[in-house]
Amino acid sequence: MKYVVILGDGMADEPIESLGGRTPLEAADTPAMDALAAAGEIGLVHTIPEGMKPGSDTANLSVMGYDPKKYYTGRSPLEALSIGVPMKDTDVALRCNIVTLSEDEPYEKKTILDHSADEISTEEAAVLLEAVKQELESESYRFYVGTSYRHCLIWEQGQVVELTPPHDVLGQVIETHLPEDPVLRRMQERSYDILANHPINLERKARGLNSANSLWFWGAGTKPILTSFEEKYHKRGVMISAVDLLKGIAVGAGMENICVEGANGGLDTNYEGKAQAAVDAVLNRGYDFAYIHVEAPDEMGHQGSVERKVRAIEYLDSRVIRLVKEGLDASGQDYRLLVLPDHPTPIQVRTHTSAPVPYLLYDSQKPQKNTWKYNEKEAKDSGNDIAPGCEMMEYFFRQ
Ligand SMILES: [Zn+2]
Repeated sequence: MKYVVILGDGMADEPIESLGGRTPLEAADTPAMDALAAAGEIGLVHTIPEGMKPGSDTANLSVMGYDPKKYYTGRSPLEALSIGVPMKDTDVALRCNIVTLSEDEPYEKKTILDHSADEISTEEAAVLLEAVKQELESESYRFYVGTSYRHCLIWEQGQVVELTPPHDVLGQVIETHLPEDPVLRRMQERSYDILANHPINLERKARGLNSANSLWFWGAGTKPILTSFEEKYHKRGVMISAVDLLKGIAVGAGMENICVEGANGGLDTNYEGKAQAAVDAVLNRGYDFAYIHVEAPDEMGHQGSVERKVRAIEYLDSRVIRLVKEGLDASGQDYRLLVLPDHPTPIQVRTHTSAPVPYLLYDSQKPQKNTWKYNEKEAKDSGNDIAPGCEMMEYFFRQ
C-alpha cells in the first residue's frame, strides 16, 4: 500500500459575498477532488490545538502526527533545520523577514505595507542580507540566508521572546508591534538605514516593486527534537515542498526532501513537477509515503485575492491531484490519498484561523459510492470529525 498526502496550504476559507456566499473551495472548478470525495470519505479535522496559534508550523506538525503541544518549539528553528543551520541547545532561532515599510519618520511611525517585499527573489534578498550582515552581525547574532523573503537569525544564549508575525499586522503602524528586546529592536531600526537606499531597492522602485527596506524578527524558538517518522509509523517518507518550514520538519523527522525545479511557493509554481516527483518516489524509489505541500492558496489568502485563491485551488486540482491519481491508478498499486489544508487563510482577514479544516480520504481498495463534494460545508455535514488533529496520520495509516 502506498500513501500520498496532498496539502493545499491555507486552502480553507469562509463564505465570500463576491462568490455568492460560497467559499473559494465551493466556487472553484474541482472535478478531481469531487470525484474522490464521491468515492471516498470527507470530514473535518482540528489541526490547531486549543490555545495554540494557527500557523503552518503547528498545523503541519499536527497533520504529520506530531502533537504540537509536545513537539512545537517555535517556527524559525524548524526553518533553520532546513537550511542546515547548526543550532546549539542554548541557541534561539528567529525568523527574519525582509519586509516593506512606509517612508514615514521616525522608524516606529512607519506602516508595514508588505510582509514579503513583493515575494522578493532569493538572489536579491541575499545581497541585501549581506549588506546587513556587514554592519550588524556579531558572535551573538548570526544571519543565515533562506528563501525569498524568509531568512534566519541565530541568537546565541538567546531568549524565546514573544514577537509579532508581520502578516498579522499588515497596513498597521508598527510602533506597538516592535520587539521589546532593545537589541532586536535596534537591529530592525538600523536595517532600515542600511536597506532603504540600497542600489537594489532604488532599482526595484524603478521597476515599480515594493522596496525590501527592513528586517522583521518573529517566530523565536529553541532546537526541535522530533521522533523519526519511520520509527513512528514504520513508513519511509519523502517531503515535496518549496517552503523551508516544511523542509525543516522533514529534516527533523528524518524524511528525505525532494527539491522540484521551479517549485517556488507562488501561484506559478511547478505543480506538475511536484505530482510527478511524488508518484515517482512511491512507485519507483521504494518510498511508502509522500507529502506534497502546495503553498499558493495561503499566499493568495494573505494577498486578499479571491480570484487568485480560486485559481490556486483549481491548479491544485487539475495539475496535482488529478495527475497523482492517474499515475497511481496506472500503476495498479493499492494506495490511499489524503487531501486537506493545514489551516484556513480566509480572504476576509488575510491571515490564519484555527477553524477545523475539511479532509478527503480515498482508498483505492475500497471505493465508496456517495454524492459528497469536497468543501467546508459538506465536510461538516458528513459528521466525521477528527480531534486532536495529530491523530489524523494514524487514522490515514490504519489497517
Ligand atoms: Zn499554512
